Amino acid sequence: MELVFATNNLNKLAEVQKMLPDTIRLLTLKDINCFDEIDETETTLEGNATLKANYITQKFGYNCFADDTGLEVESLNGAPGVYSARYAGKENNAESNMAKLLTELSNKPNRNAQFRTAIVLNLNNEQFLFEGICKGDILKEKQGEKGFGYDPVFKPTNFNKSFAEMSSEEKNKISHRGLAIQKLVTFLTNL
Ligand code: IMP
Repeated sequence: MELVFATNNLNKLAEVQKMLPDTIRLLTLKDINCFDEIDETETTLEGNATLKANYITQKFGYNCFADDTGLEVESLNGAPGVYSARYAGKENNAESNMAKLLTELSNKPNRNAQFRTAIVLNLNNEQFLFEGICKGDILKEKQGEKGFGYDPVFKPTNFNKSFAEMSSEEKNKISHRGLAIQKLVTFLTNL
């Protein structure tokens, strides 16, 4: 079976493909000649994942899954959440996003947070949702050099280091995205 992963991130694709049986071949957007900019205009992670998956299925006719991730901070009422990539205004500027987050939390004792990933799968005219959550807290300052996004300021519960101090294997085992992908893979493997 061919299945589109609505991404052009080859690292994400390889990570999922590795976990799937050979009978399922993943395709990127480029593989199906989709070069459209799919704007994430919804106000929830589930909404954006659904929007992306539906765009591909409706326009290109493929079975498809799409993901969306956000960092949800308890004392900020769930912000930055679905707006995590553009929290400080500029899309995907990790440094300014983290700086804004640390400023917003500077006088707040509660630093509980979670990363949450929603994956929506369109398969043979049915739709399925998978969710992965990684709980932790926001550090007072950045720690570590690895990873991306908010990794240097996020410390998962029961670990004494940030995501940015973990190898990708170590992070994938406990991360929001890793857990959501594991649920998707289990589902696809048992079809
Ligand atoms: P996306 O939906 O995977 O593109 O994630 C949206 C935004 O959330 C990214 O631009 C990052 O700012 C943040 N983010 C998502 N996953 C992670 C992660 O594993 N570590 C740190 N930041 C992340």
